[in-house]
Amino acid sequence: MKRAIISDVHGNLEALRAVLADIDRERVDAIVCLGDVVGYGPNPCECVQLVQDRCSLVILGNHDQGALFDPDGFNSGAERAIRWTRNQLEMHDRLPRNSANRLSDFLGELPRTRSDGDIMFVHGSARRPLDEYVFPEDIYNPLKMEHIFELVGRYCFQGHTHIPGVFTTSPEFLSPGVSAGETEVAMDLPQGKAMVNVGSVGQPRDNDPRSCYVILEDDRRVRFRRIAYPCEVTCQKIHAIGDLDNFLGDRLLVGR
Ligand code: ZN
Repeated sequence: MKRAIISDVHGNLEALRAVLADIDRERVDAIVCLGDVVGYGPNPCECVQLVQDRCSLVILGNHDQGALFDPDGFNSGAERAIRWTRNQLEMHDRLPRNSANRLSDFLGELPRTRSDGDIMFVHGSARRPLDEYVFPEDIYNPLKMEHIFELVGRYCFQGHTHIPGVFTTSPEFLSPGVSAGETEVAMDLPQGKAMVNVGSVGQPRDNDPRSCYVILEDDRRVRFRRIAYPCEVTCQKIHAIGDLDNFLGDRLLVGR
C-alpha cells in the first residue's frame, strides 16, 4: 500500500498542481488530505475542486471550518482572508450550474478525524483534531506529548503547524531537513508510536519555499518530498487581491 498524504494547501493552486503532478509520477494507491484546503491563498474554489476530485479522504481543517462558520481565534489579517475566502465559495455556489456540487456542502461534511487500523489522520492533534498545534518545541513539554500520545493507536498523521517531521514518544522531534540539492528524505517510522507532521503544500514555514508532502509506504516508511513550484505567480495573485495581505504572498518566496 502506497499513500500520498498532503496538508495545508491554503488556496495555493500552483503548489497543489505541482504536488499532484509529482504524486502522479509516484503512482500511489490513495491520496489523503489533512485539511486547510482554503484560507490565505488566492484560489480557494479551484483547490477545493481538485482536492475533491483527487483525494479519497479529506479531513476538516480550522481554516476550512472558519470559511464556513464564524471565524474564531484568528488574527485580523487571517480573518480578513477567511471572509474573502467565504465570499469566493459563496459566489461559486450561487451559480446555477454549480448547484449539484456546492463547495461549502463538501467542506461542511468533512470529518475531523478518521482512522484506518492503527493509523489516524487529523489536522491538528489526536487530542484536539481541529486546532491544537504540536510544535517541535513541544518535546520540552513531556506532559502534553504524553497526553496526546495516549490517544494515538500507533501512528498519527497531522498538519496545522506547516513544519514537517516525526515526533517519537521519547519525546524527540526528527526533522527531515531536505537540503536544496535533494528532493526527498526517507525515514523508517519507529516500532512504537509516532506522530508525523506532513508539512504544508501551499504555505511552507520551515525556511524552504518548496511544497512539502509525504509518501507513506507499507505503513512503516515515510518519504518527505519537496517540490518546487512557481511561487512568484501565487505571490503576484495575492498582491492583486486587496483583502489578502501582501505578506501572505511575500512569505511564500522564502517559506516562512
Ligand atoms: Zn494551515
